[in-house]
Amino acid sequence: MTATDSSPAPNFIRNIIAEDLKANKNEGRVHTRFPPEPNGYLHIGHAKSICLNFGLAQEFGGVCNLRFDDTDPSKEEVKYVESIKEDVRWLGFDWQDREFYASDYFEQLHEYAVQLIKDGKAYVCDLSANEIREYRGTLTEPGKNSPYRDRSVEENLNLFERMRAGEFKDGSRVLRAKIDMASPNLNMRDPVIYRILHAEHHRTGNTWCIYPMYDFTHGQSDSIEGITHSICTLEFEDHRPLYDWFLDALKIFHPQQIEFARLNLSYTVMSKRMLLQLIEEGYIPGWDDPRMPTISGLRRRGYTPESIRNFCERIGVAKRDSMVDIALLEHSVREDLNKRAPRVMAVLRPIRLVIDNYPENKMEELEAVNNPEDPGMGTRKIPFSRVLYIEQDDFREVPPKKFFRLAPGREVRLRYAYFIKCVGVVRDEQTGEVVELHCTYDPKTRGGDAPDGRKVRATLHWVSAAHSLKAEVRLYDHLFLKANPTDEKDGADFKTYLNPDSLETLTSCRVEPTLKDAAPGSRYQFERLGYFCVDTVDSSNEKLVFNRTVTLRDTWAKIQKVEKEAMEVHKGVIKG
Ligand code: ATP
Ligand code: MG
Repeated sequence: MTATDSSPAPNFIRNIIAEDLKANKNEGRVHTRFPPEPNGYLHIGHAKSICLNFGLAQEFGGVCNLRFDDTDPSKEEVKYVESIKEDVRWLGFDWQDREFYASDYFEQLHEYAVQLIKDGKAYVCDLSANEIREYRGTLTEPGKNSPYRDRSVEENLNLFERMRAGEFKDGSRVLRAKIDMASPNLNMRDPVIYRILHAEHHRTGNTWCIYPMYDFTHGQSDSIEGITHSICTLEFEDHRPLYDWFLDALKIFHPQQIEFARLNLSYTVMSKRMLLQLIEEGYIPGWDDPRMPTISGLRRRGYTPESIRNFCERIGVAKRDSMVDIALLEHSVREDLNKRAPRVMAVLRPIRLVIDNYPENKMEELEAVNNPEDPGMGTRKIPFSRVLYIEQDDFREVPPKKFFRLAPGREVRLRYAYFIKCVGVVRDEQTGEVVELHCTYDPKTRGGDAPDGRKVRATLHWVSAAHSLKAEVRLYDHLFLKANPTDEKDGADFKTYLNPDSLETLTSCRVEPTLKDAAPGSRYQFERLGYFCVDTVDSSNEKLVFNRTVTLRDTWAKIQKVEKEAMEVHKGVIKG
């Protein structure tokens, strides 16, 4: 469920925290954390978690840590750490001096493991990974005890010490918690807590050749940091008994784990593994490609942090998994850019238009409004001359019904300029295709109004041919053709549904000259076309490159309207 524009979205975690504060739980402290694993770039799903953890801390006068959950040296890299920090900062959140790494706790975690062994609550097991799986049982059948389960404390301490010292091969032994092989919860059937892995870690180097498992790391790290509310996604619900078991067994500070439904967004995928696959197999050039649902992709695409934060607030926080319509994300950025993006004119697929009765060497500077939504943004001057470009689409030699734009003999308005009338066309001799339009203009309509009150039915955008700048424009569309490309029911590989037209590059676009020094990353509305931003990677003074952030067509607003009308009909029926 998503909130309408008027009602705040429900967020059950906010209610839990408010209740805890009322009861003075944790002496009134609110301390959260955002715990990414540095094995990929952050995506819009992570943004939901970031907004939630940092947002709730802010709202309740608490603090939020950034903690890298770096317990798997085989997949983690420093470049991911850097990108994650950049993205969290860009979203507008500040962890101050609270940048932590689970790997900083390796020594402490090791001590905790030793403590469990001493208390008879952990043992070294020599079963292979496959055997451990076999012994685990199933959802309907209890597991079997490992033959190594009853090793003495001394033997366990000795073996664990030798695991640490590097005496054993990867996979030959593990440390397991001694809980209950008959538990209905598989996570409680003597889970592995330490494994041997002779791998270099990006922070601890070769200090360790045993690494703690995620479940043994997360809760204890929360505890060490004094986290009060450990917010995570729903797939950890079944791990909560284990989270609680470790903290109770170790008798250390006990944060509360709270699970919420992860964000799923239509027409894209939200798993780092799949996103990485798209890159490694060459479907997409990189993590920051503007089609990617990553924060860096959205940023490069032209999304604002405000629009992403708004989106995250709007979707609310619930306990049940659902799929959010990508139209809502697009609506959020459109709404934000509508308020702040300056309007400019650009022609994406130009056709030359010559005004026969306009003097050859004349140039006029016409006044144009920068943003009708915000008069404070002022006006600018744009050059008008005899030869212009307009959009090919805005002319039809044989106009179909309801086509009110330019056609032979027809008069239209040029935005901020004059009325023009089409009086002829020039054709390519070979193909017969129209390559140039000839028009006359009415000098009395300067600014776009006819003193005699005559009306036209269309207003076109344009640029002056000689004054405009060449530009490349990249039009992006959804990454996938199917709303849920990872739908397991149909069994097909998600890449089958990649949209072959997710990127269209137009290389002969023209933009008005005011864009000459447009800074990389700056955002504009191209009148009648959509919102665009200057590409931060490929745009330069020699070659302007724009990315289309979003079109002007708001499918979300339409969905809302239809839903509202349906509600009203429904209410009417109920009222009778
Ligand atoms: P992925 O499935 O993309 O690999 P992950 O859960 O493995 O994601 P982490 O780096 O462990 O990635 O995630 C950091 C935090 O972000 C976790 O608390 C996780 O629950 C949360 N998170 C990840 N994906 C989503 C999502 N789609 N919606 C909400 N929160 C998410
Ligand atoms: Mg994870």
